[in-house]
Amino acid sequence: MSDDLIQSVIEAVPDPMLHLGPSGEIARANTAATQMFGTWIVGRSHDAVIRQPGLLSRIEAMQAGEGASEGRFERSDQSGVTQFKVRLTSLVDTGLLLHFTDITHLREAEEMRRDFVANVSHELRTPLTAVLGFIETLRGPARNDPEAQARFLGIMEDEARRMNRLVSDLLSLSRVESEERVRPNEDVDLHAVLQGVIAALRPGAEDAGNSLVLECGDCLGDGTSRIWGDRDQVMQVFLNLCENAMKYGGPDKPVRIFMAREMGTGLLKGPVLRVDVTDEGEGIDSLHLPRLTERFYRIDTHRSREMGGTGLGLAIVKHIVNRHRGRLRITSEIGRGTTFSVQLPAI
Ligand code: ADP
Repeated sequence: MSDDLIQSVIEAVPDPMLHLGPSGEIARANTAATQMFGTWIVGRSHDAVIRQPGLLSRIEAMQAGEGASEGRFERSDQSGVTQFKVRLTSLVDTGLLLHFTDITHLREAEEMRRDFVANVSHELRTPLTAVLGFIETLRGPARNDPEAQARFLGIMEDEARRMNRLVSDLLSLSRVESEERVRPNEDVDLHAVLQGVIAALRPGAEDAGNSLVLECGDCLGDGTSRIWGDRDQVMQVFLNLCENAMKYGGPDKPVRIFMAREMGTGLLKGPVLRVDVTDEGEGIDSLHLPRLTERFYRIDTHRSREMGGTGLGLAIVKHIVNRHRGRLRITSEIGRGTTFSVQLPAI
């Protein structure tokens, strides 16, 4: 291959590429490579630039006549660590080609998947261990104790319901994630959805002494509360937020749902519908706010579990709001309460 041809070929590749000459010097680097390493590298020996033993030994093996191979390369700067897969190809008599592919995002996705599986297993294992323990007790020490049997069966039912909730939330989350790029196209009246949410929650709210109040801003008239949406998902957003407000707001505390039509700001252009769900609970330390919508993130795991929480409710809310091209904001004041504010583009 002629020198010009090698240069044109490596220039056509958007990833960093280096051409090492027969004596190991960096004969050529494409633009992506000089942006990554600097222009000074051309003409230098490769081991002055690639100082990582794993990749250097791959290069050495190739120079000694081994066939095509792969190595790893890592770079760190202010923005963090970038990981590369490096493909090494031999050019007969003219050296080696090194092709760097950024695999950082693949590694991150792998890590997230691993964490997720570990979290799900942990969440399922706790109730399962309890159920198995009680089965053993019912077969053994409590065999002839009807009172204990009734109590243990009650606990087993609670644990089984918890697993059931977890599985339903996992299924909702995976459905919402898979549809996130599909624009919802039902003509949904948000005011009617909120009334539906309140009607569904009212019996439970009355038992806990929570009042659920829906208020509307002045400029909201007939037909002004419509969005392009997925009715069930929009309902799910406000069910989750109102249930949380009741759970974490505490018993005998009001939950206020305020709805208004306003002009969007920033990326949300045009008219939007804003719904604020406000409780009078203990409030949330600002430290936790950015992480609340992560899957399984809870401020107090024990309290969340006690109240039947799965740690997935807000992750589901975030994905649904994203799918609707909306925005979720959380503001909280310690000792006063929390507001979850959802903005959705209006029709
Ligand atoms: P969970 O099933 O634990 O309620 P969510 O995803 O709905 O899961 O919420 C995640 C965490 O956010 C909760 O465990 C709780 O710590 C916190 N949280 C959610 N809503 C509120 C609220 N209204 N007030 C205080 N904390 C809240």
